[in-house]
Amino acid sequence: MRATASTKPASEILPAIPITQYTPSDNTVHNTLGHISYQHGKQLDVGLPQPSGKAVTCPICITAKTRRTARPLPSDIAKRAQHPWQDVSVDLSGKMRTQGITNVYYFIPFVCNYSGAKIVEFVERNSHFIHAYRRFVARIDGVQPHKLRTDKGGEFMSTELKELLELHFVHHQTRAVDEHYSIGTSENAVGRLRETSIALLLQVNLPSKFWPCAIQHSAFLSNYTSRSRAKPKLTVYELIYQQKADMSKIPPFDAYCTVYRAREQRQGNLDLPSTPGIFVGVGLYQKTLGYMVTDTTLNKLTVTRQHLSFDPQLFPLRLRPTAPPLFRNFHRLTSTQAPASTTTPTQSLPSRVTGLFFLFLLRKHFITEKM
Ligand SMILES: [Zn+2]
Repeated sequence: MRATASTKPASEILPAIPITQYTPSDNTVHNTLGHISYQHGKQLDVGLPQPSGKAVTCPICITAKTRRTARPLPSDIAKRAQHPWQDVSVDLSGKMRTQGITNVYYFIPFVCNYSGAKIVEFVERNSHFIHAYRRFVARIDGVQPHKLRTDKGGEFMSTELKELLELHFVHHQTRAVDEHYSIGTSENAVGRLRETSIALLLQVNLPSKFWPCAIQHSAFLSNYTSRSRAKPKLTVYELIYQQKADMSKIPPFDAYCTVYRAREQRQGNLDLPSTPGIFVGVGLYQKTLGYMVTDTTLNKLTVTRQHLSFDPQLFPLRLRPTAPPLFRNFHRLTSTQAPASTTTPTQSLPSRVTGLFFLFLLRKHFITEKM
């Protein structure tokens, strides 16, 4: 995803290698890849088995991904930028109803118009866009794009941003009022990221404050699975790194997982060698890129690159008999009124914890029995 990426070892951006090996079912692959379409899944080679049987029928897809209108045709490939991150479209999406973890309300997808790669940043207020832009530039190795395409939103028109862009010879192109197609890539990115995130959140029963995790994981999945703009036969990842992606070790969103603890971190000899948790996506948290895992209280998030094991069949939050109504996730994520009441959990934390821990014990029991 970087301009100089092809010379870098892939391990720098690839997250860690978990210990678990498994052969997933068609359904699990569909979930792991963020509810990818059946046709697309058949063409994709990312280290997971391609669907063998009939198309997976998935109520989540029907609910979260149905479209009303056709998308416009893509622009002519020959007229586009020829290198990653030179021509960048960006849009801002929010304000979300629920404040996400790390106190954010908006997400900002930066889209490379050459490859179609996506990098997402988050901000608390739309006027903080410039900080997101700086972090984005740092993530693409500090090289500013040649062209930045935005709409005429106030957050993009600040004097501060204008000065920064002019100082670095960035051509800031704002689209004309009714000319949606010139930043179509980032608007489309917003739509696709929301769509995948809603699908992920819908299947999960995760508290909605975790939406930034779902968005980041959607961007990650998109980079690994969607067709690149420059060479539609290759995925974005394949175009940039010139190698096949291996997603066989990416857990499905919200799968049960454990993070290994070093001996020094355990309390006594009989303490568990790992901490149980729930996988909530691949992404950046507190400046670390890796597997994001929330603990059993759903209040803490950790990132690990090396120490993850997971069970792709076990989804503690989905299985809870006392799960909050599924319809909670149907609420539109965005609202102009931002009613505070929707953020109140319908269920108290202790019962969540007990549920998860019960499952954890149950699972342990199963494993011991088999052995
Ligand atoms: Zn699906």
